[in-house]
Amino acid sequence: MFSANVLFFSIHKIKSELRALLLLFGHTGLTLGLALLLEKSINRSRITQKLVANQTPAVTPSPVTVSTSVNSLKSQPVVIPPLKLDYRLVLIGSLLPDIIDKPLGLLILQTSLGNGRTIGHTLLFSLFLVSFGLLLLKKRNEHWLLIIACGSILHLILDYMWFYPNPLLWPLFGFGFLQSDASSWLYKTLSGFSHPSVYVPEISGFILCAIITGILFRRHLIGQFIKRGDLY
Ligand SMILES: [Zn+2]
Repeated sequence: MFSANVLFFSIHKIKSELRALLLLFGHTGLTLGLALLLEKSINRSRITQKLVANQTPAVTPSPVTVSTSVNSLKSQPVVIPPLKLDYRLVLIGSLLPDIIDKPLGLLILQTSLGNGRTIGHTLLFSLFLVSFGLLLLKKRNEHWLLIIACGSILHLILDYMWFYPNPLLWPLFGFGFLQSDASSWLYKTLSGFSHPSVYVPEISGFILCAIITGILFRRHLIGQFIKRGDLY
């Protein structure tokens, strides 16, 4: 008998599948936008620190200068350069889980797995990236892996991965990943556009990507972005 519970479960499952199909612009655009916002806020707070430390209004935002003590304030200033994110790494991080899992699950293991969410979409993978990123920051003062790790975590959030304990909590429920039909992936992807949880972030991400690309072209900064990952 087809009970209300079964119907509810089916609807919930379909909605969950549709929610999970965020595509290229949702990931890249929203991650770039958030990273840009974060970078600006951190640099603004550093300028505020400088103003408080020097008790004089600052004119130029960079480099930010603060001092270690009141006595050394004038004699030995410590220069804190403004935070400069490499946005190429932000882009890589925003797509990393898909860069790993889509070729693996949908091409290499198409017949045996057919699932585009495997190891790259696990919490364990993100924790691994964060741990090594922190280690690298501490030992070598390099933050490139931490940027990729943050982008990768945001990818899981934008993928609504809490609807998918497998693979998110892998290997808590066993070492195998869910098998799926790879041939229906494109259909599911296109169907997802009818759901607001897919098309709203996707369109927002597309608009952000278009604005950022437009600014880069208008200010002739495309080369600078390719060489150094700068957006401005
Ligand atoms: Zn994904």
